[in-house]
Amino acid sequence: MNQDESGWGLATRAIRVGHRRTAEGEHAEPIFPTSSFVFGSAAEAAARFSGDEPGNIYSRFTNPTVRTFEQRLASMEGGEACVGTASGMAAILAACMGLLQAGDHIVSSRSIFGTTTVLFTKYLARFGIDTSFVSMTVPGEWERALRPQTRLLFLETPSNPLTEVADIRAMAELAHRNDCLLVVDNCFCTPALQRPLELGADLVVHSATKYLDGQGRCVGGAVVGDAKRVGEDVFGVLRTAGPTMSPFNAWVFLKGLETLKLRMTAHSESALHLARWLQQQPAVERVFHPGLESHPQHELAMRQQRLGGGLLSFQVQGGRDAAWKLIDTTRLLSITANLGDAKSTITHPATTTHGRLSDQERAASGITSGLIRIAVGLEDLEDIQRDLEAGLGRV
Ligand SMILES: *Cc1c(COP(=O)(O)O)cnc(C)c1O
Repeated sequence: MNQDESGWGLATRAIRVGHRRTAEGEHAEPIFPTSSFVFGSAAEAAARFSGDEPGNIYSRFTNPTVRTFEQRLASMEGGEACVGTASGMAAILAACMGLLQAGDHIVSSRSIFGTTTVLFTKYLARFGIDTSFVSMTVPGEWERALRPQTRLLFLETPSNPLTEVADIRAMAELAHRNDCLLVVDNCFCTPALQRPLELGADLVVHSATKYLDGQGRCVGGAVVGDAKRVGEDVFGVLRTAGPTMSPFNAWVFLKGLETLKLRMTAHSESALHLARWLQQQPAVERVFHPGLESHPQHELAMRQQRLGGGLLSFQVQGGRDAAWKLIDTTRLLSITANLGDAKSTITHPATTTHGRLSDQERAASGITSGLIRIAVGLEDLEDIQRDLEAGLGRV
């Protein structure tokens, strides 16, 4: 970042950082769909490969469009380095491969993305990395799960679908007191609302597929953190194993970042309005959104993440049948598990995202059969409300 950039606000960074105009004078960021790069001489090729001279070699290593995305997101998160990845899962895998080795132990929040749980329990376990799962909001559980081999604490805040909030600063202190790293999946807030590195977290991982894209177009991810761990250790995994971000996807995400702050504000405001309205509906038993005063970590959330975010969930009377009936009555909301899109989506967690859990596990996670999750999009709030009103009338 040059001198000017360090003083820029988030929206300016999201629009301006990382673009070096080519000799063509283009205004929008260029896409470089090339697998390799040409050298001026045999000596230059040798210097690039040996690392004596910086520069592009091959797009599995670096690509100018991907680099622009990485510099921009690093600046927005307040990190020294960022690497773009082929998906959010590739980001989490690359972070674990770059930081851990056989014999190491992870303590993770139980309320994380389902596929991340599978990655930890089924795949990392095969390579000798053990994971213990704890309740995210009970610090004592984290403390009790620590072992001499624990290297990494992993969490996602706010959680999905119940929007529980972890105290990132307290978790970072706990991690550092015990010689561990704190990794935060910042998918739901994005740097527009929450910057975990500024609160002491060591690494941030992203599924760019969600709000960073913002219009449900591309799959991608990122890891952000310090120059050594991310710029060398995680980058080394990507360069070697290859789950790197494509230049086209990086360009789409760059366009997404430009409107991120505006969108996150709009998603959050609509979600809070809708949450308040749902609280007043007779068929609704409970509503979960960090912006509600009734949310157990409301004050922490407002301090830590500026706004409540676009995700809410609510519990209807009548269990699964009532929830399904409501979902099937909606015409505007899309029945899909994706989120972070301009299009609002509606999901029944107990039979989809959390369907593989046993009844006991589901009860422990608080996923009741009447629970419905909405990722509030950018349509007119009145239209979303009218769509739900029809369904609530039939519950
Ligand atoms: C979707 C998601 C992921 C995985 O990202 P992909 O881009 O689908 O691989 C990881 N964490 C969270 C919180 C997610 O919502």
